[in-house]
Amino acid sequence: MTLTLTVLGCDGGYPGPGGAGSGYLLQADGHNLLLDLGPGCLSGLQKVVPLEELDGVVITHEHPDHRQDLEGLAVALHFAEHPRRIPILAPKGVRELMYFREWGELQWVEVTDRDEVEVAGMCLRFSRTDHGPETLAVLVDGAGASLGYSADTGPGWSLGELGEGLDLALCEATWTATEEGRAQHLSGRQAAAMAREAGSKALLITHRWPTIPASKVTEEASLEFGRPVLAATRGLRVDLP
Ligand SMILES: [Zn+2]
Repeated sequence: MTLTLTVLGCDGGYPGPGGAGSGYLLQADGHNLLLDLGPGCLSGLQKVVPLEELDGVVITHEHPDHRQDLEGLAVALHFAEHPRRIPILAPKGVRELMYFREWGELQWVEVTDRDEVEVAGMCLRFSRTDHGPETLAVLVDGAGASLGYSADTGPGWSLGELGEGLDLALCEATWTATEEGRAQHLSGRQAAAMAREAGSKALLITHRWPTIPASKVTEEASLEFGRPVLAATRGLRVDLP
């Protein structure tokens, strides 16, 4: 069995030219789970899997670059020929921001720090990060592989909170070491340092600010990690373990 990750969007803050906000599809054993659904992700998603085959969505926090396309998903599900309900796992406050929050197709499940949930055949555990509104990183165990997603965070949280020796750390690296401290986000250097300290087997950096050159973030992250890191691009697919 394989846990497959497909990057639907990976731009930090807002979609850059031709890009999309944060969104990742996880597939294991015939199940389909979304981690975040930022602006532009819904269109790419439908090229990979039909919407009627989705089994759940995790929204890590209320910032629009991680949840905006949930509105479009609600519309698609509500008017589908065979409407169906799917669980939306999110911290407190996300539901209230939704325009289509009353529609029953979205089955809201409020989650918080340290919660453990099984959904779409995968086991999830949440960890509150260092970010403005309540933001939940998530450990996903599925198909014999472990993936840790940092969501958005500053350096006051660590990947180690999701466990040691992750098969893949999917970690935000919004900018470079030059911008450290501007807001609660990580540089490539900081993301790589925390992945190395947590013994992550591989590191996929994501959530780069659209105006920051990809090569600079990847170079400083690889130097700090001690070996090459992967940089997220739209459509990138990774099979684990
Ligand atoms: Zn963000």
